[in-house]
Amino acid sequence: MKRTIAVIGAGIGGLTAAVRLAADGHKVSVWEKNANAGGKLNERLIDGYRFDTGPSLFTMPFVIKELFEHCNRKLEDYLELSPVDPLCRYFWRDGTRFDCSTNLQSTLEQIDTFAPEDAEDYVRFLGYAADIYKKTANTFIMNPLQKIGDLKDLKKSDIFKIDAFPTVSTRVDKYFSSPYLKQVFKRFATYNGSSPYLAPATINVISYVELCQGGYYLRGGLYSLAKALLRLCDEFDIDINYNKEVKKITLEDKKVKGLLFTDGETCEAEYIFSNADATITYLDLLEENTLRKKQAERIRSVEPSCSGFVLLLGLNKTFSDLKHHNIFFSRDYEKEFMEIFHRKIMPEDPTIYIANTSYTDPEHAPEGGSNLFILVNAPYLSKKFIWDEDTIKEQRTKIIQKLESFGLNGLGKSIVVEDHITPQNFYDVYRSNKGSIYGTSSNQQLSAFLRPRNKSPYIENLYLIGGSTHPGGGIPLVMMSAKHAITIFNRNGS
Ligand SMILES: Cc1cc2nc3c(=O)[nH]c(=O)nc-3n(C[C@H](O)[C@H](O)[C@H](O)COP(=O)(O)OP(=O)(O)OC[C@H]3O[C@@H](n4cnc5c(N)ncnc54)[C@H](O)[C@@H]3O)c2cc1C
Repeated sequence: MKRTIAVIGAGIGGLTAAVRLAADGHKVSVWEKNANAGGKLNERLIDGYRFDTGPSLFTMPFVIKELFEHCNRKLEDYLELSPVDPLCRYFWRDGTRFDCSTNLQSTLEQIDTFAPEDAEDYVRFLGYAADIYKKTANTFIMNPLQKIGDLKDLKKSDIFKIDAFPTVSTRVDKYFSSPYLKQVFKRFATYNGSSPYLAPATINVISYVELCQGGYYLRGGLYSLAKALLRLCDEFDIDINYNKEVKKITLEDKKVKGLLFTDGETCEAEYIFSNADATITYLDLLEENTLRKKQAERIRSVEPSCSGFVLLLGLNKTFSDLKHHNIFFSRDYEKEFMEIFHRKIMPEDPTIYIANTSYTDPEHAPEGGSNLFILVNAPYLSKKFIWDEDTIKEQRTKIIQKLESFGLNGLGKSIVVEDHITPQNFYDVYRSNKGSIYGTSSNQQLSAFLRPRNKSPYIENLYLIGGSTHPGGGIPLVMMSAKHAITIFNRNGS
């Protein structure tokens, strides 16, 4: 039966849901507060330089292939996925470098040069992470998981096999003796905005996804994904409305009725799919007291993922040391995560990530130049660290000095254009809870299972999608959240 559905937000979650619902024959409208679509996956063009401003690594391509199949379309007519090799170049202060690749032989040859004692452990660890993937993919990631009973495929004995009791760090320390490989494998916990010193070792599954299934780039930049989804929206006649911020979800007897916008206008809908952050959907977009005190407290208690501080630098030169993805590690990883998650301040010595898309797409910078997207992990917003002109300047200087000290000589002098994005901007622009960039963290043993569900248990006909909902943050999981919401919607007889 054809339903009238309003989607709040044109992030990757909102666009995916809109396209799937329209492909199923429903009448869909999308309401986005900003002037363009994509949400945190976005782009910025400055004087001939092009930057992705959010994601730079694309994984689990089978998720997007399935979406296009669902829509009776061929993915390759819309997007060009290219494997990135090496996946990442890692740099340490003592000059050690590691080009990590899906090509096991070339990776092992390199490990032989800086951590020969760990070559076998590298292979063993990937086997261990592959086992976690086998145990969790169908029962967790691909499972709509509306109620705990949906976990029935997960046998009691599997709880131990998914390694939910030790932390990422404890398990990694048991496998490796090399401090370099320890740091590389602990880093994967940051892919969903968590601390390796807090998150359960199950999160080690992320290393399998990247190192064995591969990491991809989308030609033209990651924003090509938003453009491809917008093309589908157009083909399915989806009504997308920009500069329309939802102020409230209107209800009648705890059942959705429609939307009220900040400009005073309204729209009616039988169903609402909210791609706004789940915490904000429940606590800000519903009238106060709609939820019981305990329900609101439970939602408030969900810990956001970390945030990030981004520098976009357009340079008049290229650095031959840089690959497409690059990481410059900190000296003391544990201290860095203590600062981010416990003290909630910017790390004194941050690990720095650089995406250099002009390495793969030279037209992203004028001839002879390069475009650096630089990201450091940052605490989610709190009173303990305030983003103002002074702190921004301080962080910028620290990052540039650190990169120069790692061999990017003359970086500061080669900047032609620049911009930055702070955690405060992530909140102001996308309304992500406390500026978090991946939704909710997995810092507690059960956090992954406690994420807000894709169908609201509190409000009839309200569905939730995006990084702050099950199964979590990052592009493929956000797209899965939309699929799950619609599976439940269909199961309930829509
Ligand atoms: C710097 C950075 C780097 C990242 N790197 C990677 C990576 O390499 N790989 C990866 O897979 N993931 C990465 N991520 C995570 C990824 O970007 C997110 O998980 C994903 O884009 C989130 O999509 P979403 O649809 O859940 O939410 P969002 O992108 O936040 O979309 C929500 C949309 O809803 C709109 N909205 C909110 N409230 C309202 C309202 N009241 N009314 C109307 N509209 C509203 C917002 O404006 C926004 O457009 C990164 C994120 C960031 C920020």
